[in-house]
Amino acid sequence: MANTDYYAILGLTKGASAAEIKKAYRKLARKYHPDVNPGDTDAEKKFKEISEAYSILSDPKLKEQYDTYGFVGERGAATGPDFNGFDGFGGAGGFDFSEIFDMFGRGGGGFRTSGATQSNAPAKGQDIQYSMKLSFQDAVNGVTSKIRVNRSKPCPTCAGRGQVPLARPTVCPRCNGTGRETAGGGLFHVQRSCSLCGGSGQIQEAQCNACGGTGRKPVTETINVRIPAGVDNGSKIRIAGKGEAGRAGGPPGDLFIITNIDPHPFFRRVGDNIYLTLPVTVSEAALGCKIKVPTVSGSTTVRIPPGTQCGQKIRIRGKGIKSLRTGTPGNMFLEITVQTPETRNTRVRELLHELSEYEDPDIRKHLPTEE
Ligand SMILES: [Zn+2]
Ligand SMILES: [Zn+2]
Repeated sequence: MANTDYYAILGLTKGASAAEIKKAYRKLARKYHPDVNPGDTDAEKKFKEISEAYSILSDPKLKEQYDTYGFVGERGAATGPDFNGFDGFGGAGGFDFSEIFDMFGRGGGGFRTSGATQSNAPAKGQDIQYSMKLSFQDAVNGVTSKIRVNRSKPCPTCAGRGQVPLARPTVCPRCNGTGRETAGGGLFHVQRSCSLCGGSGQIQEAQCNACGGTGRKPVTETINVRIPAGVDNGSKIRIAGKGEAGRAGGPPGDLFIITNIDPHPFFRRVGDNIYLTLPVTVSEAALGCKIKVPTVSGSTTVRIPPGTQCGQKIRIRGKGIKSLRTGTPGNMFLEITVQTPETRNTRVRELLHELSEYEDPDIRKHLPTEE
């Protein structure tokens, strides 16, 4: 930012006059305007650069700052004006983009340079994202919950338009009531309707004081949210129409609830499947048994077959989580860990010694060892 040479960007040297600056900018803007170079990102970048340079150099205050210090601090020159920000431009430079495009016999395309035109165009409001913490069980079963969301509603004073009718219309300061203005300079002189009053010569509306011209009023709203069964971490639930207020009668944006689920003390979730580590004793694993285990929806009794090994997985069909999309439940998997017995008890030690006589001496024969 400090080293940006705004004069060079416009092909000028320091000390150029206001007329030279305007002329240079006009020439370059015609060449690089995105409407003339659709899809050309280089041209767009260049256009932003020259627009930024012009917005600084055409403003006597900013120009003086820039000439003195080599940069402009307060106005966010680092980012430059973005394409939606041209509103403020007219104020800074008094330059109207539509001037350029009247010369081509067309309007400024997507560019609305007159504040009045822009605020009257209806537009959908912005979406809001809301992160919601849920317990593991609420995510499994679904839950209805009230949340408080900071959003906005259309300003009741101006019905979201940002402007209110004046009690008495005033003479348009731009055209002095003639309804016409002269566009262009140098070789071009074009008469056309005044861009501020639209040719009526009068200003009928003023910025709404209740909302400062934004057309929106901030509200804190309590919203009932139904979280469907089966949501996972990061699931996105759309609540239509509960985002920010639309502009000038446009529809409101949407509210998106992003779920953030607490881990469970012993269930692990992978997709719609549930994993549970199940400790069994040596005798249970070897002889087989029946065990009552908890599930996400209660409990169930499973048969551990004789000869079950440590690390073996046992599937229980349909005891996982109900799929958010299909409604069918996933599966539950028991991951068996065989617990080695404590040997403080003498009798246990005796039994294990006895057992060892019957154990497989070749248990590790598949692991060759070198002498
Ligand atoms: Zn308002
Ligand atoms: Zn006017």
